[in-house]
Amino acid sequence: MISGIWTFALPRILALIAAAIVVGLLIGHVALTIAVALCVALGLNYYRLFLLERWLKNRRLVDPPDLSGPWGEVIALTVRIYRRKKFHKKRLSEVVREFRGLTSALPDGIVVLGREHEIQWFNPRAARFLGLRRRVDIGHRIDNLVRQPEFRTYLDRAEFSMPVIVRQSATADVFLSLQMVDYGEGQKLLVVRDVSREIRVEAMRKDFVANASHELRSPLTVIAGYVDTLADDPVLDAETRTALEEMQRQSARMQAVVDDLIDLSRLESGSNEAPFDFIDVPWLLSLMKRDVLARPDRCSEFEFAIDSESGILGAESEIHSIFSNLIGNAIKYTPKDGRINVRWWVDEAGGHFSVADTGMGIAPEHLPRLTERFYRVDPGRSRASGGSGLGLSIVKHALQRHGGTLRIHSEEAQGSTFTCDFPEARISGRS
Ligand code: ADP
Repeated sequence: MISGIWTFALPRILALIAAAIVVGLLIGHVALTIAVALCVALGLNYYRLFLLERWLKNRRLVDPPDLSGPWGEVIALTVRIYRRKKFHKKRLSEVVREFRGLTSALPDGIVVLGREHEIQWFNPRAARFLGLRRRVDIGHRIDNLVRQPEFRTYLDRAEFSMPVIVRQSATADVFLSLQMVDYGEGQKLLVVRDVSREIRVEAMRKDFVANASHELRSPLTVIAGYVDTLADDPVLDAETRTALEEMQRQSARMQAVVDDLIDLSRLESGSNEAPFDFIDVPWLLSLMKRDVLARPDRCSEFEFAIDSESGILGAESEIHSIFSNLIGNAIKYTPKDGRINVRWWVDEAGGHFSVADTGMGIAPEHLPRLTERFYRVDPGRSRASGGSGLGLSIVKHALQRHGGTLRIHSEEAQGSTFTCDFPEARISGRS
């Protein structure tokens, strides 16, 4: 198909050649007339091309040339393309303006990072939080500019499901949460949030709990002591004896809660990492085995499998607390005719301590919340058995300080297995 322009051009050339042939026949020089006519047409076209070029080069200053025929078509087409481009450009700058307004209004800082963690773009809030300068810092690696060691470790670990909290500077009382988020191909967003208020509230909460439990401990010890003395009196009537026994039970429970709160506060206020003191796990477990086997409330079948001679590098009181909490829970929630297996073993992944029981088990909906403070599946039963609801919180915190994790597998009415996984770096001695 012949395009629009050529529907104009072709008949014109043919008409010109026909006219040149007629004139040529009249004057007797057909070839010469055709050649002259084509030269004139070519010259005219060059002139129009020149006008078109001049207009294209100075579009803002010069009006489009007023040409008819194919050149008129070319100019109309160019004007249309130019208008469309202008429209899109305007739209695009509107979108960019909107985006800039939006990112400036965001309460969070956003930094766009490339494959090598080099800064590609950031919003004003990120500049303020991290002290970035637009002209100077674009293209530099983020870890050269945000130099807090916690952030470097976070980047090296490359596990970005949780944010990392850093202090803005050694002197400032501002805490920032930094989280990497995958974005585009190989790119990442660094989302920066001011969490100073949350950190302050959390510190106040921890201080309050620590102070309150310390303050409660001494009066409670005194009350429990007097109750014990009164309950020892052989001439008590039955009613008073029952009341005193209940008081003994309740004060023991309160003491357990206070002791657990103090342990938890101690774990939370300590550094994030436990010391690396050698703990002889087989020896510790053999002592615990002796104590457990002497307990009257335990189930009949109790087995300790110490499959490794290796020990743990950590804090002995915390490891003891982990083991005794898990064993204590298994005893509390397993009937007398049940079975409990305690096992310590080491493999290439690290050290593992597990307590498996054939007790009441836990329904799946409770499992994610089990390590929360005071979370109990059956509050009545837990209280009746003297539970504070803090045991698994203590286990989780103590494990975290040793770089370990807690795995819970449980089926209702079948039993539960609690497994502590310690990293290889925390295992010492023969396996
Ligand atoms: P508690 O002092 O109440 O035992 P924990 O923090 O140690 O508190 O445990 C939280 C809850 O988890 C308990 O109240 C109980 O419902 C459940 N639980 C813990 N261990 C077991 C277990 N071995 N078998 C069944 N339920 C358990």
